[in-house]
Amino acid sequence: MTSLLNADLHCHSVVSDGTLTPEALAARAKANGVELWALTDHDEIGGQQRAAAAARAVGLHYLTGVEISVTFIHQTVHIVGLGFDPEDPALQLGLIQTRGGRGQRAMEMADGLAKVGITGAFEGALKFAGNHELISRTHFARFLVDSGVCKDTQEVFRKYLIEGKPGYVAHRWASLKDAVTWITQAGGMAVIAHPARYKFSTNEEFALFTEFKGHGGQGVEVVTGSHTAAEYVTYAATAQEFGLLASRGSDFHSPTESHTELGTLPFLPGQLTPVWEALAHRIQLAPALKPALNSTLTPAVEPGAARSSAS
Ligand SMILES: [Zn+2]
Ligand SMILES: [Zn+2]
Repeated sequence: MTSLLNADLHCHSVVSDGTLTPEALAARAKANGVELWALTDHDEIGGQQRAAAAARAVGLHYLTGVEISVTFIHQTVHIVGLGFDPEDPALQLGLIQTRGGRGQRAMEMADGLAKVGITGAFEGALKFAGNHELISRTHFARFLVDSGVCKDTQEVFRKYLIEGKPGYVAHRWASLKDAVTWITQAGGMAVIAHPARYKFSTNEEFALFTEFKGHGGQGVEVVTGSHTAAEYVTYAATAQEFGLLASRGSDFHSPTESHTELGTLPFLPGQLTPVWEALAHRIQLAPALKPALNSTLTPAVEPGAARSSAS
């Protein structure tokens, strides 16, 4: 499989902070021309069986996925895991511990909001969390929009939920080493998610990539919904500098909130080696479609169609 593959290896379902079910995401990915898909809910792999089954049903190749929050130099960094065994006990235990930290953080966030007159935020946010264990800032944001405090979720983050604002709570997640180890020991590949989103200095970013590699991390997201076209170029160079494989994913959460639709990003730059080449043995292949049904079930994706929303 080459870099010219419509792979979308980063998105979220109702199992974490997305608004669509794994089944709806699989159907949407297929309709958008995705060929290889992974569901990567935050700190949770409870949707993996459903996602894999839905992928098989619609004819999508599938890789298991997760997005783990870690703390690195006082910032939260996301590490995507791909192609691991979801039954691995150490990975499951690590994720349970990571999720445990979220409830405590959510209560502290609600306390902070109460101090500026926004009451009932914990209960309010909980109503938006399909999975109460995975309550997150996104659920608080949806509550504050729904209750008319802010006009959209971006405004909520800007006014209330980022560092220095009343609902911000510093939280210590897992260590980089732990997350990378959980993923790799379970047979998967660890990938640094959307590196341009972190506010690291050049030296700190160098430390992140160096330590990540030292712990056994192998990949980095180059083409993601969180990056600009210029950042694709920057992180393509970083991938080559550190000898990392490149990944591609929309980070799609919701039809109304996400600015990047599943499967619509540009292809990976041709000089990079895609993560799926090293993960070929971990891909759950979709059963070959019956020849008679091929024409109706396989949408004709024109070469380059996935590039249409580039920029
Ligand atoms: Zn992320
Ligand atoms: Zn994500």
